Amino acid sequence: MSGSNPDVSRRTFLGFSAGVAIACCAGNRARAMVRADSTWFVWTQLSPRCWMAQGEGGNVLVIAGDSEAIVIDAKNAGFGNTLRREAETVCGKPIKTLINTHHHGDHVGGNCSFTKDCAVMAHRNALPRIAGQGERLMGGAKSAAALVGKSEKPAKDAVLKDIGLVESAGLTKVSWTPTKGLGDSEQLTIGGVALELMHVGSGHTDNDLIIVVPSENVMHGGDLLFNRTWPVIDLPGGSDTAGWVSGCERILELCGEKKMIIVPGHGDVGDREMAQRQRQMLIALRAKAQAAVKAGESREDFLKRPFAEYSDYQRADVLKPRTLGGVFDEAMKAGK
Ligand SMILES: [Zn+2]
Repeated sequence: MSGSNPDVSRRTFLGFSAGVAIACCAGNRARAMVRADSTWFVWTQLSPRCWMAQGEGGNVLVIAGDSEAIVIDAKNAGFGNTLRREAETVCGKPIKTLINTHHHGDHVGGNCSFTKDCAVMAHRNALPRIAGQGERLMGGAKSAAALVGKSEKPAKDAVLKDIGLVESAGLTKVSWTPTKGLGDSEQLTIGGVALELMHVGSGHTDNDLIIVVPSENVMHGGDLLFNRTWPVIDLPGGSDTAGWVSGCERILELCGEKKMIIVPGHGDVGDREMAQRQRQMLIALRAKAQAAVKAGESREDFLKRPFAEYSDYQRADVLKPRTLGGVFDEAMKAGK
């Protein structure tokens, strides 16, 4: 397999009894994809100490420290135990810290599998929002079990067992709430790995965190970045597309000219070009929504526009109306 650190890759490979590992290309660099038949999530090694997990919610970044590991985000409700088990196998270290990039359920649904014995952190604005979702997240394990039950994947039985343990864990609605609220700018060293955490104001929500691992040249941009996927605009959750544009600019500044590896909230791993594309899309959509409102176009007609320039963007059926509706409502509000 080709990877930047053969030792780490070999350890990962041996961690799965039925696993195979192949090299893949994402963006302009070769990355090691840990394609193990025994895992539920799709794991990709990004650097010697960093892995990404895709599937069942937002993208997760796992960072292996010297003797413990850190997980960024926790996927949909019901999948926390599976995430933790597979992350520990992939990186070979126990997870002792979870950091949420923001409060949305597809990023905090698995928190309940970490809050008992890990440090669980999120931006301070996220805490009351996550606490307010506890009741809803408690029902998530049932839906997760129904979804997994229909699968043909070899990992199915292990995942159903994980979900059963979530269901029988005696959780309460506060089991998802992080144990620590973070400020707008934090520098942490966990397991010997330095992390930089930044909240740059309202963007996708009012509690987005960007997490940078300078030693690995890796960043998790949370849902400030949707890679070739329609971005969710959530006005009640604090979305502000002008602030979101600034957030993308901050990400570009942090990258400099470096080829930083960036994990987006959704879609494939990317680099500064992905952040540039997200910025340009938001600027264009804002301008179009503002012009439509000014011209008296109805919300319904605006939502029917084809936007052919984004025809290759994923999840258009579900997300495109939310993106366009959000940007239109925001322009209406601003125009009043
Ligand atoms: Zn989100």
